[in-house]
Amino acid sequence: MIPYASAAEAEAALGRAMSWWEAAWFRYSASTPDYCLYCHNVVLLMVVYTLAPLPLALLELCCCTKLTSPYKLQPRVRLSAAEFLRCYRQTARVLLLTVGALQLVSYPAVRAVGIRTGLPLPSVGEAAAQLVVYFLVEDYLNYWLHRLLHTGWCYDAIHRVHHEYAAPIGYAAPHAHWAEVLLLGLPAFAGPALVPCHITTFCLWFVLRHIEAVDTHSGFAFPFNPTALIPFYGGAEYHDYHHYVGRHSQSNFASVFTFCDYIYGTDKGYRYHKANLAEAANKQMKEMAPLYDDNDDDTAALNSWKKQD
Ligand SMILES: [Zn+2]
Ligand SMILES: [Zn+2]
Repeated sequence: MIPYASAAEAEAALGRAMSWWEAAWFRYSASTPDYCLYCHNVVLLMVVYTLAPLPLALLELCCCTKLTSPYKLQPRVRLSAAEFLRCYRQTARVLLLTVGALQLVSYPAVRAVGIRTGLPLPSVGEAAAQLVVYFLVEDYLNYWLHRLLHTGWCYDAIHRVHHEYAAPIGYAAPHAHWAEVLLLGLPAFAGPALVPCHITTFCLWFVLRHIEAVDTHSGFAFPFNPTALIPFYGGAEYHDYHHYVGRHSQSNFASVFTFCDYIYGTDKGYRYHKANLAEAANKQMKEMAPLYDDNDDDTAALNSWKKQD
């Protein structure tokens, strides 16, 4: 709760006029207890979980296979609307029960690490720098936790649930055993614990991290995805391979970037797989080449144009 009775008092404490965003935040949070502001996180998470995968789910369910297959990473696997709904209901229930319960008891930890709710709001630069740190910290810690989850007992008892979808969909991004959902909260919280931020940045971090997980589990690889501009970003194809191999996967453990797998040598299987695919595609092209030479209308047109010349 902001400790100022009026906007004028808040501006006097800031020593300047409030920005538009700060005035809006003041109006919204002035009479809301900090605990309730923190609980917005679980509401936002459920809204993002419901809406973020929806466009690609509708695309897969409503568009004809010919249109979507070129962009599907595993085009032979097609889920029905009932299977999409089952995934959504199961995952939403686990999320609500685990993240919701965690939300109720973790507030003291959030206070202890210094997540603030007052004014001033962070600048765009400050929030962006903090988010970059959170992504890097989470990626590194998640990498090692994920490797641990691929060992015998951990896989059979816990991580097996996340790998139920060998061809993942956006709604399966947080589909996991409740213990895994709780466990993976630690790397996500480590960044804000190391570099404390404003509650708005804190909520934005969880929203962005979830959207990223939906993207990497989408099962689609589009040539125009803007995430391709992010350096070392793994993306859907990278994580899809991890699900495709499943239980015995020793590749692509990192959640966001590719450098941990590169540094620790756990991308060899994936690189071998990519090299094999490229070789097979080259071979196919070579086999088709004479066909093109004999029948290519452009070649024939060019030759007749050269004769005329
Ligand atoms: Zn895994
Ligand atoms: Zn996954």
